[in-house]
Amino acid sequence: PTKLLSLSFKTGPPFKSLRRPSRLAPPRMDSSISPVRRKDKILVLMGATGTGKSSLSIDLATLFPSEIINSDKMQVYNGLDITTNKISIPDRCNVPHHLLGEIDPEEGEFIPSNFRSLAGFYISGIVSRGKLPLIVGGSNSFIHALVVDQFNADEDVFSTGWNSKSISTEFRYNCCFIWVDVSFPVLCDYLAKRVDEMLDLGMFEELAEFYNPGRVKTPTETGLRKAIGVPEFDRYFSKYPPMMEQRDDDWEWCRMRREAYEETVRAIKENTYQLVKRQLRKIERLRVAGWDLQRVDATEAFREVLFTSSMNKKQKMRPENQKNKKSGRWIEIWDKDVLQPTVKIVKHFLEE
Ligand code: ATP
Repeated sequence: PTKLLSLSFKTGPPFKSLRRPSRLAPPRMDSSISPVRRKDKILVLMGATGTGKSSLSIDLATLFPSEIINSDKMQVYNGLDITTNKISIPDRCNVPHHLLGEIDPEEGEFIPSNFRSLAGFYISGIVSRGKLPLIVGGSNSFIHALVVDQFNADEDVFSTGWNSKSISTEFRYNCCFIWVDVSFPVLCDYLAKRVDEMLDLGMFEELAEFYNPGRVKTPTETGLRKAIGVPEFDRYFSKYPPMMEQRDDDWEWCRMRREAYEETVRAIKENTYQLVKRQLRKIERLRVAGWDLQRVDATEAFREVLFTSSMNKKQKMRPENQKNKKSGRWIEIWDKDVLQPTVKIVKHFLEE
């Protein structure tokens, strides 16, 4: 992409440092000493939901030959692509993605220890192909499970209180952690808009199809049933089932249904803000524990996206007249504040 030409530094071939060192050690006198294996390098893009991690990962993959492993615990499942906000196939720009919609939700909950094994398996494959594994997604429990040297599946290191556990800084990979951050109020404004856009894209219809009136609810739902949007719309559909005969001539009924719908959308937005708060708390815990998270601030780029979209709305621009998503002032700010600093960090990491 032409925007990448704007990078003010050279992006020479950074890949040789990705290759595994030869396993053949020089001959030694003491044959009992085994060759020391250097840890594989991985890049972890973390941050709250909606901060632009997926878009950044594609930008990076066009510069550094990489493959992406999804670390969003809802996006690992097959189904509900709009509701869980999976990156679309055209937007993936042919970059290989792993663990994105790969797990059958009927096969039970995909837990952090499953992620540790399967993502670990994919990392080995990616490294053997001479590429950089990019771990991209907001589920900090998955990221923690994947990278720590000693993982105990029975321990919730993020629980708070008197028995809260310390978080290890001993890693089984050579990790570069990039934290994409957006200030909380700006991110909430953006997420409210994103929920409206997801509804325009067909989230309601997707959830109507997913709704199963005959299903017996369990006290604690698992897997994809926990995705934000599912429990909220399940409540709505229990009153207004998708197949219900519409009573369009009953004004009062229409008003109540409209109110119930609006309340559902409000709940989805509120639960998304709560998710952001929880994710940020976990990131803070990792940082305090000593994880070297390199923060890049995307707040200004997001402010510009919000400003542009409110101007477009005011001018009632038709979609075909609107500027391409990947153009405009916000992309310049994104390049300057997010992409360029990230590329610099990654280059430095690969050359180490
Ligand atoms: P927790 O320990 O709370 O599960 P986590 O760090 O393991 O947190 P998160 O990614 O923060 O994982 O997900 C927590 C919850 O947030 C999920 O169980 C789900 O309800 C919701 N959630 C996360 N990602 C999505 C998504 N892509 N779409 C819809 N809901 C999501």
